[in-house]
Amino acid sequence: MDSGDGKEEEEKEKEKLCRRCKASYAPSTNTRLSCRFHPSFFICRRHDDQKRYYELRDGDPPYAAKFYDCCGAEDPDAAGCTTDFHVSYDDDV
Ligand SMILES: [Zn+2]
Ligand SMILES: [Zn+2]
Repeated sequence: MDSGDGKEEEEKEKEKLCRRCKASYAPSTNTRLSCRFHPSFFICRRHDDQKRYYELRDGDPPYAAKFYDCCGAEDPDAAGCTTDFHVSYDDDV
């Protein structure tokens, strides 16, 4: 009887998906420099004395209002300013 090709149970290393940078990686190659990310969020400009975000108004240059809170990068696609280990969805952090 041939039960067909079901699951492969090889010793192959399973790639994981990083929940921070969304890259897939092999755990054995995961180093402190593997994951590039921004530790903080991309935000809109916030009020000077209250930590409240507000919308852009006419005439506000877009680059002045939106940036990463960690490093000030104004491009949402800017490369991360910090590196660390990748963090898979299986890991508790
Ligand atoms: Zn990562
Ligand atoms: Zn950053």
